[in-house]
Amino acid sequence: MNILVLNCGSSSLKFQLIDSESENVLAKGICERIGIDGRISYAPYNSDKETVFKDMPTHTEAIQYVLDALMNEKSGVIKSLKEVGAVGHRVVHGGEKFTSSVIIDEEVKAAIEECNDLAPLHNPANLLGINACQKLMPDVPMAAVFDTAFHQTMPPKAYMYGLPYEYYEKYRLRRYGFHGTSHSYVSKRAAQLLGKPYDELKTIVCHLGNGASLSAVKYGKCVDTSMGLTPLEGLIMGTRCGDIDPSIIEFIANKENMGISEVMTVLNKESGVYGMSKRLSSDFRDLWKAEEEGNRYAAIALETFCYNVSKYIGSYAAAMNGVDDIVFTAGVGENDFRVREGICGNIEYLGIKFDKEANKVRGEEAVISMPDSKVKLLVIPTNEELAIARETVALISGHSA
Ligand code: AMP
Repeated sequence: MNILVLNCGSSSLKFQLIDSESENVLAKGICERIGIDGRISYAPYNSDKETVFKDMPTHTEAIQYVLDALMNEKSGVIKSLKEVGAVGHRVVHGGEKFTSSVIIDEEVKAAIEECNDLAPLHNPANLLGINACQKLMPDVPMAAVFDTAFHQTMPPKAYMYGLPYEYYEKYRLRRYGFHGTSHSYVSKRAAQLLGKPYDELKTIVCHLGNGASLSAVKYGKCVDTSMGLTPLEGLIMGTRCGDIDPSIIEFIANKENMGISEVMTVLNKESGVYGMSKRLSSDFRDLWKAEEEGNRYAAIALETFCYNVSKYIGSYAAAMNGVDDIVFTAGVGENDFRVREGICGNIEYLGIKFDKEANKVRGEEAVISMPDSKVKLLVIPTNEELAIARETVALISGHSA
């Protein structure tokens, strides 16, 4: 069965058509500048990417162009919509309501809307995508796969903030965590690669991309994660600040004569390794190049990033009273051997024997610890689209993924 996986943002929409039996990607692409002017990039599996400019006032036109591209006589990969068995939608925030993926119906859509306050930029866009799809493909079943669901197994001691309890009661203000599909996929894959039962392992997943988060997965369940109510908390990221003293917000507002939302823009978009490197770049490739050329701000940003991840790993080993394996994934985690080396050089006390040679891999599955290392280190490319496709198939066929 073919599954259309959709990840809708407010002005963009990423898509993949996946054959669930072979797990091959039949075609993929992105619509950008929805509501502004519009362009669609489309790549079937056997050919290069093509970009065309199209008017896309709303997500409905964008999704119609996706379907047209998939069914195009020359470059399409299917003949009719009957060949789309289901649609899997990535939904960012499921609040406390959704502890797993669900088939979308009116009640589910209303519940997703109730979580809009928790993810004001993302959930409304996800709903736009769902509504547009339902309009264009009314008979195709659809699933919502939530970024937060995997973390819903966290105990209160991991998700409660040290704030007055009534904020939790009134607003469900707590830690939720994100990148759940990736943390789930990668921790399961690590167990497969190690040949160990998932529910017997203590795994730390380091999802290090432009957005970055860690999770502690104990015996197959997430027990802690670094992102919070929003993706701003936790690690220093590409442009997000991660953990800071909350008083800094008032301090910057006063000194720079800014309102709260302006300060929030600084913390989300102008901080992280980008801000620390004096706005040089949020891309780690640029930062390493600058560091080699003697740029001390890039050097400090990179060193701080690695130190920060090492400290989180130490705290998650403590949270689980031990660790069996540590997995690196996402753009930086999969590709950047120097970042992995920087992080692992600081955590030998856990029983890690880092293999410098094996660590030279990029973008492929590998074990990067010595054979006699007590704690195993792995690189596993994440595949959130495949995970969403698997969840969708499992839901519509009535099994758990
Ligand atoms: P993601 O958010 O997972 O797509 O990761 C994107 C980030 O991965 C980019 O901003 C880069 O910082 C990083 N990245 C991608 N490729 C490489 C590479 N070859 N070496 C170092 N960092 C990389």
